[in-house]
Amino acid sequence: METEVEQPWDVIVIGGGPAGYFAAIRCAEIAQEAGRPVRVLIVERARRPLGKVIISGGERCNVTHACFEPAKLVSYYPRGAAALRGPFSRFQPRDTVDWFAKRGVVLKTEADGRMFPITNHSKTIVDCLEEAARQAGVVVWTQTGLLDCQRIPEAADQSPRFRIQLRRDVLDCEQVHSARSVLFASGSESFCHSLIARLGHTIEPPVPSLFTFKITDTRLADLAGLSVPNASLRLLADSASEKVSIPPQQGPLLITHWGLSGPATLKLSAWGARWLFECNYQAGLLVNWLHPLSTEKVLEELQSYRILPENNRKKPGAHALFAQIPIRLWKRLTEAAGISETQNWADVSKIAQRRLAEELTAGCYAIEGKGIFKDEFVTCGGVNLDEVNFKTMQSRLVPGLFFAGEVLDIDGLTGGFNFQNAWTTGWLAGEALGA
Ligand SMILES: Cc1cc2nc3c(=O)[nH]c(=O)nc-3n(C[C@H](O)[C@H](O)[C@H](O)COP(=O)(O)OP(=O)(O)OC[C@H]3O[C@@H](n4cnc5c(N)ncnc54)[C@H](O)[C@@H]3O)c2cc1C
Repeated sequence: METEVEQPWDVIVIGGGPAGYFAAIRCAEIAQEAGRPVRVLIVERARRPLGKVIISGGERCNVTHACFEPAKLVSYYPRGAAALRGPFSRFQPRDTVDWFAKRGVVLKTEADGRMFPITNHSKTIVDCLEEAARQAGVVVWTQTGLLDCQRIPEAADQSPRFRIQLRRDVLDCEQVHSARSVLFASGSESFCHSLIARLGHTIEPPVPSLFTFKITDTRLADLAGLSVPNASLRLLADSASEKVSIPPQQGPLLITHWGLSGPATLKLSAWGARWLFECNYQAGLLVNWLHPLSTEKVLEELQSYRILPENNRKKPGAHALFAQIPIRLWKRLTEAAGISETQNWADVSKIAQRRLAEELTAGCYAIEGKGIFKDEFVTCGGVNLDEVNFKTMQSRLVPGLFFAGEVLDIDGLTGGFNFQNAWTTGWLAGEALGA
């Protein structure tokens, strides 16, 4: 049965994730400070809010990243960099650190810049957000799903502009509410995308980002767990040689049971997310295991090693030159270059040396599919950014409609950047909604 609830809300936030909580808290706090009562409701479909925060960062929650320079910070966002430049000058990781510190949660920085609660428990962050919402007087309804959101035609400025239909599982009923403003902080949820599209917005099609590569190749077989500290990866249009415009990515590279993972892979998957989706995750991959060395430089080193008499008969050949490559991987790459384990280094032909230099710096692998990355997963795509005012996070098309977080066509690399997008856009939306 559907019931119409008469008292309107000032703001209804769709989605009890980090973006929705941040926006609701900021909005309610501003109104509280100004002595104005404000009715803010978060509706969350799940039994518990902040579900992704709980499981994030291996349940430690990588809250943000110690990058305090907005111009540099935006370079970690394959989609959304230009739009976030202004918002980061108003609310950036330093503000996130301060926001949590003010509420008793201290963040620590790890060697790679990722920031976690000092307790190492994501629950600390969830408890903090829930307590801040409670103190600000935000109402949270869980097990409550948005069914529909419609504009009320020709609504006057201060009267409700939206009609919101909700399914309240605990009460086993459907209710219709009205609100002056609605904030979509519903993440990558496709049903909400379709409602937003019906309100007039363009939705960039959602596709996964931050994944590993499935590669079946004898050179990598049974080497799971081995890694190199600094490799470079470049995508090829197919397993031939056509290069694509996605920038190559560098960093630690990890061999797994199903292919390749590690920071270099995840970064490339994010930058190439849409392109890889379009080619059904079938592409060529060029691996330089010795980044930043070039093929010619490696060849030069191999040749100079060969002419040293004391090295002529040493086994296993020239591995000593490139000790960052694990010995078992080195053996596979020399085999692939046609150099046998028993061959004297002095007898290795110039052609075989070039083949080895190429294996080491430009080995070609075929990506056969997308693997999983259990620590973090995001979707690129969402509300078209040109249709949103990034000073307020309000729609440029529909007055009173706001967006924050992953519902937008914004996604970051792994390392705390996705939560930072949620904190920043949520905070800006809250500022505007509470004003
Ligand atoms: C396993 C995993 C680990 C991650 N770890 C990290 C990390 O350590 N650091 C980092 O920066 N990022 C991490 N991320 C990414 C990060 O979680 C997201 O970018 C972030 O949660 C997005 O916040 P959001 O509030 O925009 O959306 P969400 O967190 O997705 O919240 C949206 C909420 O809306 C609700 N909702 C959707 N539709 C409806 C509806 N119709 N009615 C009512 N409610 C609805 C959903 O149930 C959900 O709770 C991780 C992601 C995953 C999956």
